[in-house]
Amino acid sequence: AASGGSFDHLFKVLLVGDSGVGKTSLLQRFSEGSFDEASPPTIGVDFRLKYVDLQGKRIKLTVWDTAGQERFRTLTSSYYRGAHGIVYLFDVTREETFEGIKEVWMPEVAMYSTLEHPATMVIANKIDLESEREVSREQATAFSRQNGCLFVETSAKADVAVRQAFEELLLKILDSP
Ligand code: GDP
Ligand code: MG
Repeated sequence: AASGGSFDHLFKVLLVGDSGVGKTSLLQRFSEGSFDEASPPTIGVDFRLKYVDLQGKRIKLTVWDTAGQERFRTLTSSYYRGAHGIVYLFDVTREETFEGIKEVWMPEVAMYSTLEHPATMVIANKIDLESEREVSREQATAFSRQNGCLFVETSAKADVAVRQAFEELLLKILDSP
């Protein structure tokens, strides 16, 4: 795997979304290739660093996770500063977390993001729990399109489309003016 040394781009990506949607699990799956069911992920981790090789370029990527502050549905403006990409996560088994994107997280990003047009993606996580699903693929696809976001369905637990999601977002960032 790529690590250390020089790089062509340095990008900051943020994970936002209600508590419990799987932000920390998704990041752990992406950065370490693992999933931890029993013990809650460490509180207090601010970001993970990962080098990604894409289209002949080496990207130094920092992915920022919250340390539980999202429970109060508010993050500080410094969290948003300079973000090139924003990932809005929701849990397909809890419709209120889908509503939270529109009601809480998109307004926050609009208020605090310092880039005029960060690349954005909606992620529907926990698709391994298909039988408990409350938000349809069609619903989430339409919402994402309306808001100019990419859309990917993932499972951090079953390792479905996690790396693909980050790569799609990075490609969009690379394409952005
Ligand atoms: P966060 O609060 O957004 O950081 O969410 P966490 O990563 O702490 O996950 C909340 C809970 O959902 C934990 O019990 C995880 O094990 C679980 N979880 C996370 N991702 C998935 C997934 O893809 N599928 C299932 N079934 N559970 C998941
Ligand atoms: Mg977390």
